[in-house]
Amino acid sequence: MKRIYLDHAATTPVEPRVVEAMLPYFHEVFGNPSSLHSIGQEARRAVENAREVIASFLAAKPEEIIFTSGGTESDNTAIKGVVSAMEEKGNHIITSAIEHHAVLETCKYLEKQGVHITYLKVDKTGLVDPDDVRRAITDKTVLISIMHANNEIGTIEPIADIGAIAHERGVLFHTDAVQSFGHLPINVNEMNVDLLSASAHKLYGPKGVGILYVREGTRMFSFMHGGGQERGRRASTHNVPGIAGLGKVVELAGEIMEKETIRLTSLRDKMIKGILDGIGDTVLNGHPVKRLPNNINVSIGYIEGETLLLNLDRMGIACATGSACTSSAVEPSHVLAATGLSHDFIHGSLRLTLGRSTSQEDIDYVLEVLPGIVDKVRSVSTIKRSV
Ligand code: PLP
Repeated sequence: MKRIYLDHAATTPVEPRVVEAMLPYFHEVFGNPSSLHSIGQEARRAVENAREVIASFLAAKPEEIIFTSGGTESDNTAIKGVVSAMEEKGNHIITSAIEHHAVLETCKYLEKQGVHITYLKVDKTGLVDPDDVRRAITDKTVLISIMHANNEIGTIEPIADIGAIAHERGVLFHTDAVQSFGHLPINVNEMNVDLLSASAHKLYGPKGVGILYVREGTRMFSFMHGGGQERGRRASTHNVPGIAGLGKVVELAGEIMEKETIRLTSLRDKMIKGILDGIGDTVLNGHPVKRLPNNINVSIGYIEGETLLLNLDRMGIACATGSACTSSAVEPSHVLAATGLSHDFIHGSLRLTLGRSTSQEDIDYVLEVLPGIVDKVRSVSTIKRSV
């Protein structure tokens, strides 16, 4: 059977050239980058090379890049680290209702410790209004954390505007760029960002490695104490193969990002049009234009997304309903709920995220089989249209 992977927002396959770049660091150059001997120093060079490549990709300085275990750790470090370092100034954070759980659960945890959190509403396309950010700032606000692009609906937030407001008011600004890193151009200066999280496995790199960009001079405590690696900001022996892989990932992304954006945007728009025109009672979730080039999220009314997903899987199509990270749970997506989507549509969300291997034939195949599957699932659905 033909197998089509349309869940690139959940994770991506590791690109063979990335695997190749990682291999020497498992066996030949296996040293600890903190060791002073030449075997260790050779490993250190790989870490520092990757740091330079990544810094230049973000228009940052190499010493502003901290290697972490991925997006979740970067989000936790940014938020908890700033809050504890800024205790004297205040204890208020502004975030949005549609952040990834790595941000939302961290905020919930801090709320229990007495930190005040403002969860900003979004409009029906998932956009945060920068004026809402401005209005929410108080003299106790220490951090604003708004994601660059949403992992479920692909909406791209007005980060540069929000960052400018944060800086006008002397507040630090963090963005979770896990879904946009390497897919959209990022310049930390033009975007007025002080902290930025990214992860390798969403960009054809290995799982378990990522970065946190921290602008020079930013006050942030470390919560990984130990050997003092990463200038004391994140202890633990470096994941050298992973870091070398992440460096290669960024190098490759830089080469193809522009062309791939044009190709994916065209495939994305064909798929969206095909679904909305071909199947009744469907709506597009997220912003029609300000969205990730690879993200399609539609709600198919009067249907259970889980049943649809399993039927698509039987036809060789792998995709997601709601957020992939929570797709084992049956509660409706917090992101779709925040956009105000009605009960009849919220359960039938389908997220199809395209990638480097996605072809026009894949899109045609999905558009060919989807209407029949929807008819079948609707005929047994418990969510019925009211008459
Ligand atoms: N932030 C966003 C927006 C994500 O989409 C994800 C993963 O799905 C994460 C954070 C967590 O990243 P990681 O899997 O590298 O911990």
